[in-house]
Amino acid sequence: MDFTTLSISQIRELLKTREASAVEIAHAHLASIEDKDKEVRAYLSLCPERALAQAKKVDAVIAAGGDLAPLAGVPVAVKDVILTRGTRTTCASQILENFVAPYDATAVQRLENAGAVIIGKTNCDEFAMGSSTENSSFFPTRNPRDLTRVPGGSSGGSAAAVAANFATVALGSDTGGSIRQPAAFCDIVGMMGTYGRVSRYGLVAFASSLDHIGPFGRSVKDVALVLQTIAGPDPLDSTAAALPVDDYVGALSGDIRGIRVGVPTEFLKGLNPDIGGNIQKGIDLFSTLGCQIVPISLPHTDYAIGCYYIICTAEASSNLARYDGVRYGFRSPQHDDLRDMYRKSRNLGFGAEVKRRIMLGTYVLSSGYYDAYYLKGQKVRTLITRDFVEAFDEVDVIVTPTSPIPPFKLGEKVNDPLQMYLADIYTVTASLAGIPGISVPCGKTPSEPHLPVGMQILANHFDEARLLRVADAFEKAGGFQIS
Ligand code: GLN
Repeated sequence: MDFTTLSISQIRELLKTREASAVEIAHAHLASIEDKDKEVRAYLSLCPERALAQAKKVDAVIAAGGDLAPLAGVPVAVKDVILTRGTRTTCASQILENFVAPYDATAVQRLENAGAVIIGKTNCDEFAMGSSTENSSFFPTRNPRDLTRVPGGSSGGSAAAVAANFATVALGSDTGGSIRQPAAFCDIVGMMGTYGRVSRYGLVAFASSLDHIGPFGRSVKDVALVLQTIAGPDPLDSTAAALPVDDYVGALSGDIRGIRVGVPTEFLKGLNPDIGGNIQKGIDLFSTLGCQIVPISLPHTDYAIGCYYIICTAEASSNLARYDGVRYGFRSPQHDDLRDMYRKSRNLGFGAEVKRRIMLGTYVLSSGYYDAYYLKGQKVRTLITRDFVEAFDEVDVIVTPTSPIPPFKLGEKVNDPLQMYLADIYTVTASLAGIPGISVPCGKTPSEPHLPVGMQILANHFDEARLLRVADAFEKAGGFQIS
């Protein structure tokens, strides 16, 4: 039996009936990575000792007749911007190439407490800045559905690992789309909860007011289970909301009759017909399932990209000031004085995209420009949030494409950062508003080579249970589920 294609509940069943052990399941994944990750390159590092030690613990509990933890024996991949104690956490950057994390992120700890088995750390764009995983300082990751194409980004390694069956589920981070867009490109499910739903403790900061940790999976149900495990208040992160976590898996009733589905007119303007056709079919499917389709308007959409790239670069320039060659990571061996040491360490340690963002962010925060850019950006962010809050008076969820373009070829856009930024239009709006969003497979483009299309579904703040119910019903009815 192939243990690498199982869902979380299938793993549970096999462990319960003792048809498989957690150690066997972990070994199957490590062997498959060994065999096939040479092509995909989803992982930056593996932690087989940690994985097998945890798997043995799970097996020991089963042997002793104990209760199975909710994620017992489930292999998980973790994006390399999330800390895992005792293993390297590089953020795919030279500057942290040899950085060993001193503690576990809360999300990682919660997964392990629930019995999950951490397999390794996945590739991404450097410090999560990018949309293709080509900004990794080490190597690009390839899309397992088509090896000539990018897996999306910045959490491309996590998405590719799940799509290639190198892990059952994965953690990624999403600041402006970095879970949702690679999920769409790799034809899997990826979700970002409400800002503050999941603790950011142990997530290396890119843009703190926008950063989230969230799950990838091959089904909505697996994603719901992981989110349920990692969500909730955390004394170590004051921005983690002090609200109880709903029963997300219990919410997956399959019945979405009467749900009001908002379709923003602004979002479908000038859309690539290859993507638009599938999204329209998806909207029709909601109708068939008894939903009411409601055209809505989000009038400040045009300002979202500008607003996002002002705020995220401003926050990044501040957050990345800590990499000074003194406290963390790389220090240039040759330098004249302290200032020169800072300069050389940062110059050699950071890649081009990270430097671009630090410079942009420093500019929009500098005296004389602060009011015109950063302060204005904050005001526009409030208007964008208000658009959504008002829309959610009329509708329960909002649907859009996840990305305006299908997965592109490696190298195709890497020299045109502006084009890359513009493709974030559908994901950054939700990020600015702090609302939850999920990407679910929505068929393949009609023309050759039939590339994956993702549908993004958004809901109001802390309405994750309903969002997951809608996504699950859509997945089941559409037959888009990957088994
Ligand atoms: N593509 C977006 C960016 O480059 C989003 C990145 C992210 O969500 N981490 O900023």
